[in-house]
Amino acid sequence: MTIPSMIFAGILILLVIVFFVGDWLRNPRVEITCVHCESPDVVEVNRELVSSRMVESLGSGSPAGGSLQLQITYELTFRCHACGKAFTRQLVETN
Ligand SMILES: [Zn+2]
Repeated sequence: MTIPSMIFAGILILLVIVFFVGDWLRNPRVEITCVHCESPDVVEVNRELVSSRMVESLGSGSPAGGSLQLQITYELTFRCHACGKAFTRQLVETN
């Protein structure tokens, strides 16, 4: 391997790292892992609506009060591909 090709490869690796780290920073997704074996290899198999209610949004700062938002709580059922067991997680969505 020549020196210029090593530098080129180094820059390429750096670019790949920057790309992945940047992507990770832009999309901070919550990794759901199996509660039994902690494997991330899980799939959502069911989604059930638990409750939906109107909530007042906080931090609007206006004395007239914040806007009302619909808050929906789901119970998600996941199945783990690693150990085959199922588990549930609650998800709160605000629209
Ligand atoms: Zn598992």
